[in-house]
Amino acid sequence: MAKILIPTPLRQYTEKQSEVSMPGATVGEVLSALTTRYADLRKQLYSDAGALRSYVNVYVNDEDIRYLEKDKTAVKDADTLTIVPSIAGGSTLVAEPQLATELTKEEILRYSRHLIMPEVGVEGQLKLKNASVLLVGAGGLGAPLGLYLAAAGIGRIGLVDFDVVDHTNLHRQIIHGTKDVGRRKLDSAADRMRDINPNVKLDLHEVALTSENALDILRDYDIIVDGTDNFPTRYLVNDACVLLGKPNVYGSIFRFEGQATVFAYPGGPCYRCSYPEPPPPGLVPSCAEGGVLGILPGMIGVIQATETVKLIMGIGESLVGRLVRYDALEMRFREYKVRRDPECPVCGDHPTIRKLIDYQQFCGIPQQVTTRGELDVTEVKQKIDRGDDFLLIDVREPHEYQIACIPTAKLIPLGEVAKRLNEIDPDAEIVVHCKSGGRSARAVEILRQNGYKNVANMRGGILAWSEKVDPRVPKY
Ligand SMILES: [Zn+2]
Repeated sequence: MAKILIPTPLRQYTEKQSEVSMPGATVGEVLSALTTRYADLRKQLYSDAGALRSYVNVYVNDEDIRYLEKDKTAVKDADTLTIVPSIAGGSTLVAEPQLATELTKEEILRYSRHLIMPEVGVEGQLKLKNASVLLVGAGGLGAPLGLYLAAAGIGRIGLVDFDVVDHTNLHRQIIHGTKDVGRRKLDSAADRMRDINPNVKLDLHEVALTSENALDILRDYDIIVDGTDNFPTRYLVNDACVLLGKPNVYGSIFRFEGQATVFAYPGGPCYRCSYPEPPPPGLVPSCAEGGVLGILPGMIGVIQATETVKLIMGIGESLVGRLVRYDALEMRFREYKVRRDPECPVCGDHPTIRKLIDYQQFCGIPQQVTTRGELDVTEVKQKIDRGDDFLLIDVREPHEYQIACIPTAKLIPLGEVAKRLNEIDPDAEIVVHCKSGGRSARAVEILRQNGYKNVANMRGGILAWSEKVDPRVPKY
């Protein structure tokens, strides 16, 4: 029996178990036993043609099976298989035009505990002072990153964000305070960072990073730190870093789990080497949909900040080629090798991607124009008020239903939709909703695949309901 560790996003298919044991002499046999026992998991792990999906990596102990014998890799009883899906994070540095060659008296005092370590010293501190770092996102990961990188004395820090602080940010985005609710995150973060260290020069970019502006913005920095929360931006940041030859310090978080590594370092792997394609929209919920332990981005952001500072100073062993996974519930770190793929479309030996592409489309996110099969919350309210004969299905989790619900809705969590089809009349008119519209779009897809003809998604989910129909329904 081999032990298989199941990551959080897939536990909905394994009766919520995080660890299962399955018989088999090879990886293929063990996974076959697993997906026979948990049939819904099969669709998540394998394509219709029976190939392992490329947004899922399988490790035997710390080794990626793609570099062993793939599904024929032998498995012993003591081995641990891990399924790692992608989760909705020195020498090549560009010199600043005018390099500082000394520290001021104030800086010597401020950085004293750095300076007395021989590994850092004045030389290392000057490297930090002459370095520039771009933080993409001033949210969960950006908060600890901004605080620590400013305190460490990075000479110039760029922040990219276009969001405004709201109450739901405060449990984790500790760079912002309650008094900042309603302010631009850029302003709030900049105030705090200037207070921590007025020596740091800040560049504030109030934009959404796009294929049009990314190269121009990233070009100006030595190191890029990815603190984003969505797949299109992650692929965009990765590809731009590879094209520009800049290290991408990566971190991502979900519920109680986080990952961190360094991508796109010259000679090292990139995000696409690990995950050539994104998961289908809706499979891996965002933090807004799936939740996140408030402390978790602190842990992962601090790992990213540590790697950034090490890369600048050229000390220690970096995370290039290693992915660290952190599980807060188990309080355990695990480490996996990540290798550069010579066939990678962007960093491989014969790259096919030589300029930035349309990342929304790449990630399968429908454009605004495709509203087929969507209903606005006000239309759904009218249907209820008129007494229309239709079935409203809520595909969120039971604990979310307890926080806020539309009373006439039937609760069937997304992970259970496929096996509870017998509860859903095939001839009924069906409207599906979730928190903000992502999971319900996935449920609509599942229902259509199973022959349901009259299915619509409620646009904007219960958040839109709270905003436009019934403000008594709490937002969360
Ligand atoms: Zn690559």
